[in-house]
Amino acid sequence: MVVKSAYIHIPFCVRICTYCDFNKYFIQNQPVDDYIDALINEMSLAKTRNLETMYVGGGTPTALSIKQLEKLLKAINEMFNINGEYTFEANPDELTAEKVQLLKNYGVNRISMGVQTFNPELLKLLGRTHQTSDIYQAVDNATTAGIESISLDLMYHLPKQSLEDFADSLEMALKMNINHISSYGLILEPKTQFYNMYRKGNLKLPNEDLGAEMYQFLMSRMNASSFHQYEISNFAKDGFESEHNKVYWLNEEYYGFGAGASGYVNGERYTNINPVNHYIKAIKNDGKAILTSNVPTLNEKMEEEMFLGLRMNQGVNGQRFAEKFNQSMDNIFGQTIERLKNNGLLVEEGNFIKLTNRGKVIGNEVFEAFLLNE
Ligand code: SF4
Repeated sequence: MVVKSAYIHIPFCVRICTYCDFNKYFIQNQPVDDYIDALINEMSLAKTRNLETMYVGGGTPTALSIKQLEKLLKAINEMFNINGEYTFEANPDELTAEKVQLLKNYGVNRISMGVQTFNPELLKLLGRTHQTSDIYQAVDNATTAGIESISLDLMYHLPKQSLEDFADSLEMALKMNINHISSYGLILEPKTQFYNMYRKGNLKLPNEDLGAEMYQFLMSRMNASSFHQYEISNFAKDGFESEHNKVYWLNEEYYGFGAGASGYVNGERYTNINPVNHYIKAIKNDGKAILTSNVPTLNEKMEEEMFLGLRMNQGVNGQRFAEKFNQSMDNIFGQTIERLKNNGLLVEEGNFIKLTNRGKVIGNEVFEAFLLNE
């Protein structure tokens, strides 16, 4: 399989959000310049130079200074020929006209913005650095710079968030000049500020039913708009689906560069060393920073094909499955599929097996049913 995609991880943020359990560090006193040098070294060893998608995520890539961003962008352009989607994640208050113009000048054509909500009180509760007005300014900056594709992330199932609150944020997003929305329900993760607040009794979570209601609302509102749902949490106008994320859902290979980043190359899944200092040291020592790697077994690959593929509205293609694994999907998962169809969680359409709306609401339970006993 030829690798045609790459992910670059920038694990720095100017403030740590109260709910966040991503791989990130408070930027102050971090060796950011050394990190960029290490990234460039790691990328220089990649065998494939022609890519169809590139995704720079975090953390927050826009937490880098103009000088640091330019060094990274220049190196990426010198090392890779990106013929397709080139995304940068951004925080609204950091996406200045100058930064987004720089990104555009180096070929970035997609911005994915961590908006989360338009409600000022909820933004504060989430520990976000931006204000509602920054969202409008950032989208305006990106549009003026000529970025063709703009995606907003919105969260639901937040503490103190009513269905009306979420609906308001969604309406505000829909009125903007954007073409993609990703929307995720909050999951309370250990080691977050939210988790500590919750344990001390200082944070009340909305009940599960409200979360499910918000998700149903999201799907029906988006389907009545000019966006279509193409994945459990992702909605796009025609022609603006995220090609990079589809690489993950189609279980294809990709490079992962940076501290703690994961990749899938030559049939092997790997995860890089973390934290930042250890990663930099490993790259200085031998150009690589792989902490763990494993070649998935055939059963694992078939399970992944189902979990990941079912996330997409189109579902899993039986013909593609048979070509990839030399055996039919029915042979391996026939009984499970039949049971889930009878329970109204899956449907079959032509060659494809896909989730029903009910299946999407309890997606994780459906995915678990595809675990094979080794
Ligand atoms: S900006 Fe993103 S990565 Fe950084 S702390 Fe907030 S949610 Fe986490």
